[in-house]
This record gives sequence, structure tokens and C-alpha cells, in this order.
Amino acid sequence: MTTSAPGASVTFADLGLSQPTLNALQNVQFEKPSPIQAAFIPLAMTGIDCIGQAHTGTGKTAAFVLPLLERLNFDNRVVQALVLAPTRELSEQIANECKRLSYSSMCRSVCIVGGRPIRSQINELEKGVHIAIGTPGRVIDLIERGILNLQHLTVAILDEADRMLDIGFRPDIEKILRRCPAERQTLMLTATMPPLVERLANRYMKSPEKVDCSTNGIAVKTVDQFYLTVDEDRKMETLRRLLLDQRPQQVLVFLRTKRGADRLHAKFSRKLPDVAILHGDLPQTHRDRVMKAFRAGEVRMLIATDVVGRGIDISGISHIINFDIPEYCDDYVHRVGRTGRLSSDEKGYAFTFVTRDQGEQLTNIELRINTMLPEYKIPGFEAARPKERRAEWTGGFSNSPVS
Ligand code: AMP
Repeated sequence: MTTSAPGASVTFADLGLSQPTLNALQNVQFEKPSPIQAAFIPLAMTGIDCIGQAHTGTGKTAAFVLPLLERLNFDNRVVQALVLAPTRELSEQIANECKRLSYSSMCRSVCIVGGRPIRSQINELEKGVHIAIGTPGRVIDLIERGILNLQHLTVAILDEADRMLDIGFRPDIEKILRRCPAERQTLMLTATMPPLVERLANRYMKSPEKVDCSTNGIAVKTVDQFYLTVDEDRKMETLRRLLLDQRPQQVLVFLRTKRGADRLHAKFSRKLPDVAILHGDLPQTHRDRVMKAFRAGEVRMLIATDVVGRGIDISGISHIINFDIPEYCDDYVHRVGRTGRLSSDEKGYAFTFVTRDQGEQLTNIELRINTMLPEYKIPGFEAARPKERRAEWTGGFSNSPVS
């Protein structure tokens, strides 16, 4: 694997995976999620359409297989998920990974690719499978023979979508997607987002959420970033003033702990109607409802912890506020990457609250993003400057704990 870990604090259990899946992960010795897994899994598990931008070898197979294992109904032996990949090798690799990850479940899958005897693939399909994985050509062949029935399909996945388009699979992909039920989830994994991929996404996906791990998440250039010095016990008041100053279109406020998020939510939701909270202890139905409302713009301020919040990619987010300075430098990059993806002429803004004793943590973040953050002042709300604020720069390093 060629990934740098997201916050090393994130575990597979944090992502909301069930115990059998966690057991399978232990069995394959995956200790912690890769960045694309940490970002993509919680989103895909909600059932919405998602695009994951990630390179090969970054754990993207498990990123889409694990949500499938959580969402499909294995009592019903019909094809519920179809994975399309550009090559036979990749299809087989995906099928193997799927078997490894589902070894303890009732999940049955089949790999349908050209260059292999079609008879055994037909036998498997006739016995009944839940997941079909293959290349577009053989998939179409089996659909046209009436063997591969997509009537009960709930999830369609395009892996390496850019490569599939590069090698001319576009008509085949479109043909297959048109045969899939309209009411389905579509997931797309791609290393790049050329116009052809965008067009495919616009045609066949419903308001997809995007997760970009293709550049190690350093997507912070289009964001104006500041820090504010605050006293721990005046953070809430400072936040209130900052919101009044900035009047954000939509704001995502990050906290380190679920309890802290609960407290802030309790305080603000008493005064403002359009505030919501999202963290891993809340039931999935609540999380789905909040995400829907946030996406629709009905929620203006969303209070979240890292695990849940950083998967969010909603174009309306104008402001990110780090109410608590992130624990790990990469978490900063992930958090701030939630904004600045607005149409090119709109900027995103990120504000990080820094208490007196967190100067070194701020410096570590600055080293990580290779940028000195300017201070944002709200008259009457400055704390003393953080200690060691201008600690010596000793060279770049990534993902170091900042505490
Ligand atoms: P992929 O990008 O899906 O082809 O994965 C690349 C390799 O990394 C495969 O050998 C996977 O089995 C392995 N892998 C995927 N996720 C993890 C993880 N979280 N921890 C350790 N290895 C992983």
C-alpha cells in the first residue's frame, strides 16, 4: 500500500462496520483504514451515490466491498451488486479481495470475465450469487444470454472508471447501466476526474458525494485559512462572534470528541433552528436524515467529529471551523478539504481555534501544509498568543501527532 494514514486514530470500528466485518478485517490483518477507506466507507454505507478519487494500491477495493457486505441481503440469493472493472486481472483481484473480506458471511460472488470458460461462470450464476464482478464485455454477453439478471440490483460499482473510459468501454458501460434498476446506488472509483468521467457521473449518478484521496488529500489551496487564539472557556462565545462576522453559507464545525460535539450542539440548537450534529454514536437513520438536510441546505451549521465529518463533500460548505485543533496533521487536511470545492470563483474559508498551549500543534500543521496561517482577530476575543507560536521550522513531515 502506498498510502499515508488519515488520523492514525481512526479505526474500522469507528466507521460503523458490524462485528462480523470487523472479524473478517482482523482475519486479513487490516489494522486500520487507509484514507480512501476512512472517507469512503461511512459515505457509501449511507446508500448515497459516491465518487472516490484514489489511486490503485490505496485500499480502494475494500473501500467499496465493505459497505456492500454491510448493505446487501444475503438471505436472498440474487445479484444485488455489480462491479465493473477495466481488466480481467483487476476483476479477479476484486473478486479475491471480496472473498477474503466476506469469508465469514453468507456472501457469494462470481467473477465474470472474458478469456475464462463461460460455462463455469454460468453455473455459478445459476446457483445464485449476490455480487457479480467483471469486465463490461462478458457482463453484456451474460446479460444478453438472459443468464445475468439485474432486476434485483441495488448497487452498481464502476472501478477505475477513468481507465474504463480510456480503453473505450463507454458504450458498454452505458448499455449496462441502462439495464440496471433506476432506484439503485452507484459508486464510482477513479484516479482522475477528466470530463468524460464527469459526464458519466452526471448522467448515471444522483448528486454524488465526492471523496478525493488522489493527492493525499492536500486540496487546501483554494481555501483561505486562519487561526484564532482563544481561551478554552470562551470558545463557544468566540464561535458565536465568528459566525456573526462571517455569516457563512454553510458551515461545518469540527470537534475532537463526541461529548464535546453534543455539548456544543445542545448550546447552539437552543438558539438556532438550522443546526445539526453528526457523530458515530448516533443511529444511522439520524445520520442519513442530517446528511440529507445538510445537502439540501436546510441545515446551515453542522457540528461533527472527524470520522463522520470528513467524508462529507457538499458544494455549499463555505466555512470549516476547527473548534478543536485536530489531533493529527492529516486530519487538518481532511477537514479543510471539505470546503474550497465550490465552483472555481468561490473560495472556502477555514478557521482553527488555538488555545494558549497549542502553539506547537499549530506549527506542526503549518509544516504539514507548508503554509503559515495568518491570525484572524475578533476584537475583545483574543487570548494570549499561543506559546512557541513561532517555533523553529525544522523541515516538513506528515501526519505527526500534533499533541
Ligand atoms: P487495493 O488498492 O484495493 O488494490 O489494495 C492494495 C493492497 O492493500 C491489497 O493487497 C489489499 O489487500 C491491501 N489493503 C487494503 N486495505 C488495507 C488496510 N486497511 N490495511 C492493510 N492492507 C490493506
